[in-house]
Amino acid sequence: MKTMTCKQLAGACDQPFSANSFEEMANKSQQHGKEMFQQRDQAHLDAMNKMSKLTPEEMKAWFEQKRVEFDSLPEDK
Ligand SMILES: [Zn+2]
Repeated sequence: MKTMTCKQLAGACDQPFSANSFEEMANKSQQHGKEMFQQRDQAHLDAMNKMSKLTPEEMKAWFEQKRVEFDSLPEDK
């Protein structure tokens, strides 16, 4: 398992997510984002708004960059 925080995944808080793969990590982050969206958390709404302004190419590049970041993380103890 590896851990990344909401902030590391373009979010707005320090909530950690643990996952075995980057896909799982992305899913957990998205799920959390949806919950925060439903609660109308302003910080997360701003973060999502920022991400939504990226072009598909920029989004892809961001995603790949985060995948590399995930791969380079040490395994949780
Ligand atoms: Zn968050």
